[in-house]
Amino acid sequence: MRITEDCIACDVCIPYCPVKAISMGDDIAQINDDECVECGVCFRSGVCPTDAFQETPLEWPRIIRKVLSDPLVESPDTRVPGRGTEEVKTNEVSGRIKLGWAGIAIELGRPGVGTRFTDVQKVTMAMAAMGGVFEHENPVTFWITDQKTGKLREDILNEKSLSAIVEVAFPIDKLKAAIQKLQEVSKQLDTVCSVVTAVKVSPDGSFSTDKIFKELGLTPYPNSKNNVGLGRPLFKFEEVS
Ligand code: SF4
Ligand code: SF4
Repeated sequence: MRITEDCIACDVCIPYCPVKAISMGDDIAQINDDECVECGVCFRSGVCPTDAFQETPLEWPRIIRKVLSDPLVESPDTRVPGRGTEEVKTNEVSGRIKLGWAGIAIELGRPGVGTRFTDVQKVTMAMAAMGGVFEHENPVTFWITDQKTGKLREDILNEKSLSAIVEVAFPIDKLKAAIQKLQEVSKQLDTVCSVVTAVKVSPDGSFSTDKIFKELGLTPYPNSKNNVGLGRPLFKFEEVS
């Protein structure tokens, strides 16, 4: 994103940037390229009285900022707009988390904070060290060069996005250790981080994660998303006795 010489230094756009990348220069407003996540909010908001915002063509690796920060842009890898993943929320249709497994979606960054990929890599490496299986249909997974170490491509490490989601699955008996590892690594992050776990509900209506969270002293906030016939599962349901 750039600001052209049409800017009249009116200040109006400054609060619209979710990562505070716009500031007032000597004569016109300016964008800190290192902080800008290419979300397009300043451009799309239409607040500029002189239409001084101009979108610029983005090349690799800077393009990943836009892929993860602009909800109108589709990930070229997963063909999903937003952050490029349908997440565990669609599990009832996709069946990505099987019985006996737990999925974890770790979201790094938020409006006002954002995340650098050096921090995303700390999480992918920690989860790889615990033997996690990364979700295939997720853009961050496409940028992991080695699934065993969780290392990301070197050329994206200094990139920044509004947020990024790491999705990884563990057999349920490995979940407790994986969350403990996550708690440990979260202390080294220079951003905020929120965690969702997903499991299939057991036939008796219980969650296999309840006992684990209790042992960890964590209070989960359960949510359920139910298919009311608007979508058909793309996988064969497992038989449960
Ligand atoms: S594109 Fe987004 S991050 Fe960049 S200056 Fe505009 S609002 Fe801020
Ligand atoms: S709203 Fe437009 S004219 Fe006003 S400071 Fe921002 S870029 Fe400049």
